[in-house]
Amino acid sequence: MANSKFEYVKNFEQPDNLLLNTWIVVRIDGRGFTKFSSKYGFEKPNDRRALDLMNAAAQAVMYEIPEVTIAYGISDEYSFVFHKSCTLFERRSSKLVTTIVSTFSSYYIHLWSTYFPDTPLSPPLPSFDGRAVCYPSVQNLRDYMSWRQVDCHINNLYNTTFWALIQKGGMGNLEAEELLKGTYAADKNEILFSKFDINYNNEPEIYKKGSVLFRGYELVDPATHNAAAEADSLAEPVQQSKNQTENDKKRRAKARIVIEHLDIIKDEFWDRRPWLLS
Ligand code: ATP
Ligand code: ATP
Ligand code: MG
Ligand code: MG
Ligand code: MG
Ligand code: MG
Repeated sequence: MANSKFEYVKNFEQPDNLLLNTWIVVRIDGRGFTKFSSKYGFEKPNDRRALDLMNAAAQAVMYEIPEVTIAYGISDEYSFVFHKSCTLFERRSSKLVTTIVSTFSSYYIHLWSTYFPDTPLSPPLPSFDGRAVCYPSVQNLRDYMSWRQVDCHINNLYNTTFWALIQKGGMGNLEAEELLKGTYAADKNEILFSKFDINYNNEPEIYKKGSVLFRGYELVDPATHNAAAEADSLAEPVQQSKNQTENDKKRRAKARIVIEHLDIIKDEFWDRRPWLLS
């Protein structure tokens, strides 16, 4: 059975192992969600149920694939980060991407009725595409995360203003689009405030910042952390430090996955959770 004359076809497969010692980001995105969101009557600009469903599916992915250390979601997309030391599926890109995409899609459909109890799914069913990208440095990875969160902010400010003009201002789509052409962030804030009495700063954090998922673990005061680490290394027992590291790892793996809406651009988020990138 193992050595049939057909087996040579296996040699046509291309290796696709991702570069060692790099941070792997798998980003997935809903297929045709502009249409999908109107079919199921998503509230504009932000349907809270749809975001909660995305977050619940992403959380399930992180429970099923513990190698994912952090995830960040906005709109119909999610980014899943694998640690640079990860060896899952020998770092084969197609295995990593397809497993994330299918696990996420399965849970999205499985959990749909919890978030949309009155609107059952019907074909075409929701599906997601995915890609894997390697980032060689922590700076590159953080810039990637910042890029997504800036995108969230820009889109949300635009969409909030656009939909206020339509829903509260009685404008048509084209009219609103025309009015917003060439405007800066300050102009949109001003339109929201002066025309609609909306202070953008008071909009829900989940809309402004997106959602970040990670294993909940005690926060670190960066100042104390650095001092303690230094004292540790001076007083050695190297062996104990290693055990400590292993124990910490195990404890973290067991921790529950939390969903937060925090600034991931500034240093504070990362400084207070050094285990995410260490
Ligand atoms: P593609 O298949 O190329 O990704 P798409 O239609 O999904 O096409 P995107 O750029 O991914 O295009 O945009 C996602 C769309 O889904 C946007 O139109 C956005 O308004 C809508 N959408 C996603 N999540 C929500 C939500 N929670 N509430 C309202 N609309 C949403
Ligand atoms: P991997 O994640 O590496 O694919 P795996 O356990 O799925 O691991 P496969 O080589 O894909 O390994 O094997 C599929 C397994 O599923 C086999 O053990 C096979 O017997 C079982 N299986 C699949 N379909 C059926 C079926 N219809 N009836 C009984 N067993 C099945
Ligand atoms: Mg796309
Ligand atoms: Mg999409
Ligand atoms: Mg998208
Ligand atoms: Mg299998």
